[in-house]
Parts: sequence; structure tokens; C-alpha cells
Amino acid sequence: MPRPPWALAEAAFLAACTRCGDCIGACPQHILVADKDLRPIVDFSRGECTFCGQCAEACRPRALEKTEGVPPWQLKARIQSNCLAKSNVVCRACGDACPVQAIRFSPKVMSAAQPEVSNALCTGCGACCAPCPAQAIRIA
Ligand code: SF4
Ligand code: SF4
Ligand code: SF4
Repeated sequence: MPRPPWALAEAAFLAACTRCGDCIGACPQHILVADKDLRPIVDFSRGECTFCGQCAEACRPRALEKTEGVPPWQLKARIQSNCLAKSNVVCRACGDACPVQAIRFSPKVMSAAQPEVSNALCTGCGACCAPCPAQAIRIA
């Protein structure tokens, strides 16, 4: 599971994060949880990131550093092979959940329409993850 938005590169993040948990407590979506070392990671099974920035604002040592014009992360939704549509089951739950219409369904002859993520549009928010009945979406 990824670090919170605007996290420094991993080595710098590890050096800066004091494991205070302030970001975890600040997230109104309750999607931040502690990893085994008590540092924050995002659990998209709990919901989506709204990029509100409250985690970064709460981070006093600036392990999360929100800078104007800098994207929160490079994460994108990745659809895995256990997607129901690949087994010819009609499902559009991820597309319905995406706030920026980044998942389009291309028709396939004699088969269920297949989801395709636009890397250009996807923000990696994770809104598509929890609604997927097959847990077939990774944000990576
Ligand atoms: S940006 Fe907001 S919603 Fe996203 S992890 Fe930080 S506090 Fe939570
Ligand atoms: S991660 Fe967010 S923006 Fe990307 S496809 Fe899923 S819901 Fe849409
Ligand atoms: S919600 Fe999950 S199972 Fe349904 S089409 Fe999207 S990735 Fe496939």
C-alpha cells in the first residue's frame, strides 16, 4: 500500500517521518493506517483520497510536503486479471465510481465490455477500489 499523498521519496520519507500518527488522525476519509513500523500508508479499501491536503498540513516534520503545482503522487489504477469482465461477467462498478470518468468500457464481440483506465485522466484517488466486487483494482 502506498504512502500518503505528497510523501517524500521513500528514503527521505523514512528519515523524516517520526511515526507521530498526526496524518492518520487528520484524514477525514479515514483511509490512512499505520504500517508494521507505525508509519502511514493508504488503505483504499476504506475509501478514496480527496486530495484535501489535511494529512500534509498535519505533518510537522514535513515528511508529507504539499507544494503548489506538484502532483500528490504518480499512482494510477491498475486492473488485475481477476476483473469480472475478463470472465465475461457484466460489471461497471469501477467506471460508475470514478469521479473523473477515467475508466471507459470498450465493447468486445461476444463478451462483456472491458474496462480500460486512462492514465492521462486517472488521479490515483482510489474511488474505484472499494466498489469493485472482485477487489481487482490496485493503485500503484
Ligand atoms: S489528502 Fe485528505 S483524503 Fe487524502 S490521505 Fe490526505 S487527509 Fe486523507
Ligand atoms: S483511481 Fe480514481 S481517477 Fe483513477 S480510475 Fe480509479 S476512481 Fe478513477
Ligand atoms: S469493478 Fe472490478 S470487476 Fe467490475 S469491471 Fe471494474 S475492475 Fe472489473
